[in-house]
Amino acid sequence: MSETAIVKAGVCGKTTRITATPSEDMMTVSVRIESDCPMVAKVPVIEGIVSFEEVGTPFNESVIYKWASENIRHTACPVPCGVVKCVEAAAGLGLKKPVSIEWERSRLPHQGDEGHMAELGFGLMRLPLKDPDDQSSVDVAQLKEMVDMFLDAGLDYFDTAYMYHRNVSETAIKEALVDRYPRDRYRLATKLPIMMVDTPEKAEEVFEEQLRKTGVEYFDNYLVHNVCGEFYSNMEKCKAFDLLKRKKAEGKIRRIGFSFHDYPELLDKVLTEHPEVEFVQLQINYLDMDGPIASRKNLEVAKAHGVPVIVMEPVKGGLLADVPDEAREMFESKDPGMSPASWALRYVMGLEGVETVLSGMSSVGQMRDNLSFATDFKPLDEEELEIVGKATEIINGKVAVACTGCRYCVKGCPQDILIPDYFSLYNSEKANPPKGWSVPKMYYKNRSKGHGLASDCLECGNCEMNCPQGLPIIDLLKDVAKTFESRGGPLPLQSASGR
Ligand code: SF4
Ligand code: SF4
Repeated sequence: MSETAIVKAGVCGKTTRITATPSEDMMTVSVRIESDCPMVAKVPVIEGIVSFEEVGTPFNESVIYKWASENIRHTACPVPCGVVKCVEAAAGLGLKKPVSIEWERSRLPHQGDEGHMAELGFGLMRLPLKDPDDQSSVDVAQLKEMVDMFLDAGLDYFDTAYMYHRNVSETAIKEALVDRYPRDRYRLATKLPIMMVDTPEKAEEVFEEQLRKTGVEYFDNYLVHNVCGEFYSNMEKCKAFDLLKRKKAEGKIRRIGFSFHDYPELLDKVLTEHPEVEFVQLQINYLDMDGPIASRKNLEVAKAHGVPVIVMEPVKGGLLADVPDEAREMFESKDPGMSPASWALRYVMGLEGVETVLSGMSSVGQMRDNLSFATDFKPLDEEELEIVGKATEIINGKVAVACTGCRYCVKGCPQDILIPDYFSLYNSEKANPPKGWSVPKMYYKNRSKGHGLASDCLECGNCEMNCPQGLPIIDLLKDVAKTFESRGGPLPLQSASGR
């Protein structure tokens, strides 16, 4: 009886189908080979293989390896091994078991054997600029210096996206990294801009464009960008994960994931509906752990699904690099010379379930600061975690709206306005005014879905009566509406009432 084996050769993306047919007396086997690879397909038939001799013969006497050495110019090609296995099975000399090669990532020099730690990744969304008012004017000369420092420190993970720096980040990293280093020296991640594509054809077109822009033949990690309530149906419509699975089978993606800016219930739903997802990228930092961004709960959901986490915004868009003096002095007296940003990074690098922490570094100085502790990383100890807890209180105490998040105001609101959640997002926006795209504004859009907007307030006053902080909630909501509901932004809003 004939046996057929399929060999997927890996990074070349070629597939080979091998059919081995034994003679009636089972003494010899003939093999038919069909392949996408022109070298493998050049001589498609090998006749008269004496099976019991072939499976026990040295490599240099094997008919099959002779065929391979005459036709295939790549000794790592797994096809000859597949042909031998197929002959072995057809002749009844071996079992039809799948064969695979798994890769185990070697540990980086700074990764010890004890205790958990995540590695530092280079986020490419806040690159150095030649003109601070032009996001597309990336200073590639400085970026090259930063790339060299990062690789020299034994780190190798780079995270870009189609839309970063007005679509220029991918081409900048080609120039600074891909054109200057061999492919096995780094790992590169980028993202499918799901907000820009709405058909499978368009999604594929964008993917191929990204390969051209970055100049690589495959992405180590490829993410659907910004999965959230608003874009989830769009993502399903253009069958984004089907595309990713296909590209992975073709060898153009190593790992499939998505970045996420929404709430734990949706994260759970996406991970349940898409078991092909191998990692998720979440916003996590010490200030957002228990606020409306729900970092802690999202991390728990990812852990429950057994999916490793890559952290984005560990310094909350720079807010935790520039903390109030009181918090800065606390950090300084505990560990002189350790910057507030490095405290924020060390906090997330020590969280269980986190494999990589992205830092969006904008200068050689920031790179130097990050590398000063990330290559000799120690997670925060108990005393240091306590200091971070106190710093959180101090930072929250200095915010634009002194809401404690007690939620006494929410129950009596006839418009179901998520008052404390909106105040927390408003605080983030005010503490660190965005130059372009606003993360808090996007969270506002997602969080308000199915609830009243700030502008839906009827000024009934129920909330103010219940607020133990005595906040002028009605007036504050007007500021929130002005900040997050302005027309012409990237995220036009619609309240629960369909307004
Ligand atoms: S004043 Fe506005 S926010 Fe407060 S309870 Fe009434 S409708 Fe809700
Ligand atoms: S009652 Fe006041 S302090 Fe409490 S969540 Fe509402 S606005 Fe914030």
